[in-house]
Amino acid sequence: MASKRDYYEVLGVSKNATTQEIKSAFRKKAKEFHPDLNKDNPDAAEKFKEAQEAYSVLSDESKRKMYDQYGHAGVGAGGAAGSGFGGGYSQGFDAGDFDFGDIFDSIFGNGFGGASGFSNFGSGRSNVNAARRGSDVLMRMDLTFDESINGCEKKFSIEVVEDCDECDGKGGFDAKTCPTCHGTGTVTTQQQTILGSFLSKSTCPTCGGKGKTFKTVCHECNGKGKVKKNKRLTINIPAGINTGDRQRVSGKGSPGTNGGENGDLYIEFVVQQHKYFVRENDDIYLEVPLNIYEAAVGCKKKIPTLYGNVNVNIPAGTDSGDRQRIRGRGVDNKANRHKGDMYLVFKVYVPKRLSRDQKKILEKLGETDLDTSEIDSFNKFVRSND
Ligand SMILES: [Zn+2]
Ligand SMILES: [Zn+2]
Repeated sequence: MASKRDYYEVLGVSKNATTQEIKSAFRKKAKEFHPDLNKDNPDAAEKFKEAQEAYSVLSDESKRKMYDQYGHAGVGAGGAAGSGFGGGYSQGFDAGDFDFGDIFDSIFGNGFGGASGFSNFGSGRSNVNAARRGSDVLMRMDLTFDESINGCEKKFSIEVVEDCDECDGKGGFDAKTCPTCHGTGTVTTQQQTILGSFLSKSTCPTCGGKGKTFKTVCHECNGKGKVKKNKRLTINIPAGINTGDRQRVSGKGSPGTNGGENGDLYIEFVVQQHKYFVRENDDIYLEVPLNIYEAAVGCKKKIPTLYGNVNVNIPAGTDSGDRQRIRGRGVDNKANRHKGDMYLVFKVYVPKRLSRDQKKILEKLGETDLDTSEIDSFNKFVRSND
């Protein structure tokens, strides 16, 4: 797949364009590339679709924010636009408050929203009745550090497009054979050109190629057979999830068309950082501050771990940067069934201010025969460098 163009570039606006500027830029592009006005330009449909996708994201404040921050990945794969946690998602194209009048009804026929309509362009209208699976949708979810370590249950709402209950997904009642195409789904028209007249077949405008119309169109779904439903979902997140890990929720993505199944919803996790624990793969690093006495003489210290405090013996002569491993106290990752280790990284703090008594004690210490081999060798180097 070719890489996507920047949405701002597609609409020809600057990164800080106002909503109004984005809207009028899109209106211009829509006119320029509208497939009905560009029958001779095979690229027009693709350009039109590209502009629609760009507009659907940039015209929506929260989606635009996600896009600015994460690029195309932030608003979902393919044409589907995902959004942050709680915000649910939308179809591949959401017209928002943009008034298209009946342009869309005539172009996209029975397509729901844009997603299904777009794909019809690419593959031609002849297989407008073919079942197509909906696209997958990506959504981001924030987890606290504790939630990611221990696992948790998350409830959230999402807009899912499902069969309309009122008409059982049919779109209307009392189906009858389409009077325009007599059930064939296509109409034949005669075209006059300078080379003579030709017969050309096209999708029936009355039934959109289905060959059937309804005596009564369903008022609940306006004949689409699908409606948006706000669903409460609950997912169980296993212990050990890390930033970038994804979980699939089957069938909760964009709707399929013509009986095709829904795409899947993918939830990508973003784990907040902990104030002290630093995670690297399944290992946990903790910086442990020591004063010069503890570092020089050694000590027994209570150390926090993911699973409560433990007592640790810190050996005499511990220096800044020294590490100590505590086996099996890292992340208990249920997804890869791996248990990480914990690493203590010591940092020795030299006192910034000393009382007179403390100074005296240290002076006395300085007069004793300290192990200074490193310092002696360094001083030797200084003298040789004179
Ligand atoms: Zn028809
Ligand atoms: Zn309905």
